[in-house]
Amino acid sequence: AMFGNLSERLTATLANLRTKGKLSASDVDGTVREIRRALLEADVALPVVKEFTAQVRERALSDDVNRALNPAQQVVQIVNDELIAILGGEVRRLSFAKQPPTVIMLAGLQGTGKTTFAGKLAKRLLGEKHAPLLVAADLQRPNAVQQLQVVGEQAGVHVHAPEPGNGVGDPVRVAKDAVKFAREKLYDVVIIDTAGRLGVDADLMKQASNIRKATNPDEVLFVIDAMIGQDAVATANAFQEGVGFTGVVLSKLDSDARGGAALSVAKVTGQPIMFASTGERLDDLEVFHPDRMASRILDMGDILSLIEQAQQAFDEDEARKVADKFASEQFTLDDFLQQLQQMRKAGNFKKMIGMLPNMGHMKSEIENFDERELVRTEAIIQSMTPAERQNPKLLNGSRRARIARGCGRTVQDVNELMKRFDQMAKMMKTVARGGMPQMPGMGPI
Ligand code: GDP
Repeated sequence: AMFGNLSERLTATLANLRTKGKLSASDVDGTVREIRRALLEADVALPVVKEFTAQVRERALSDDVNRALNPAQQVVQIVNDELIAILGGEVRRLSFAKQPPTVIMLAGLQGTGKTTFAGKLAKRLLGEKHAPLLVAADLQRPNAVQQLQVVGEQAGVHVHAPEPGNGVGDPVRVAKDAVKFAREKLYDVVIIDTAGRLGVDADLMKQASNIRKATNPDEVLFVIDAMIGQDAVATANAFQEGVGFTGVVLSKLDSDARGGAALSVAKVTGQPIMFASTGERLDDLEVFHPDRMASRILDMGDILSLIEQAQQAFDEDEARKVADKFASEQFTLDDFLQQLQQMRKAGNFKKMIGMLPNMGHMKSEIENFDERELVRTEAIIQSMTPAERQNPKLLNGSRRARIARGCGRTVQDVNELMKRFDQMAKMMKTVARGGMPQMPGMGPI
């Protein structure tokens, strides 16, 4: 999964500090060296690594550290803060034009996922009660127009394309006409898909730059493939100079990429990462939250994303009930059961589990996870009495054995389930109190 290695390395390095009562300068130096190595191996650009490690070192050695935390926790907090900072700090949302239509232009190399992202964004905007229009201004690649039409159909969004059989066509003209068309037909957001090339080239930049001038977009989003590795910075800089962009979309974050692109691009170009594309389906799109990404990298679990995804999967009433439960700190086995059922319905279980805290060490289990496991877990909970589901303390040894027999599982299975439930309930309490979940074995941060 994304940032897998980096995440493992960082958490292992930080876990090494756990036993220290006090950090010496050489402890800090050793840790910073490890962090530096981990970042470089993840393909993070050197200038970014240098600045990052210098910041961590300086803060870890300063007197300004948070005395309420133990030394290991202090370093975790500093690393977390600095990760958030290089990922762009605050969430940056799309800015919409005061006078519709809002024009959003996409730019990037071929095969990075522009067309797919166009469909994802259109679908999302449609869900937010906008009236988006997709524009096929990629007239270079054979089938590009047709591909956007397919995506548009899936998203349920109209696609503006040049008339078929009309020769090669002029992408600048198509884009300009589309904006006019949108104004007349009351589409309020225009998403322009542009042509990419396999490498950066002057014609490509010129064309994209001309489309930008002709349509005066409110946002130009640079789509970059997370698998690009060390080329990330050069490519981003070339687009920044040749076309200019206002935000970044990281695509294919679901892949096994080392992820350094993500950690470099925002910092190097000074433009925020706004979206993360995480799969081939149109729903695989996330608003990029630097703070959540940082805690995902540090394997603290992305509780907020998890809750948000759960809310998307639940209907709204259901979501409100769960939120209330979290807030009132009364998370019961019945709620757990309901969640499992909803997750199964949503069919997105692996992704959600991947966001839970401290699951880094379980990566291969998650990959190989058989969703039928959910059904078995449900069966165990269903074998409990309603009273037991409300109050798990009633589940003594003999009851656990009975339950195991009742659903054809072992006592260990029941115990394992109860352990997971306890962890989950504790986590919910921490989140409900506005706190952060625990790092492995480190106590609350
Ligand atoms: P474009 O040339 O920039 O328009 O790129 P496309 O949208 O055609 O995408 C290129 C390929 O990458 C297609 O096979 C897509 O299905 C795939 N793709 C796009 N976005 C993602 C993503 O977030 N994750 C994964 N795994 N594949 C993606």
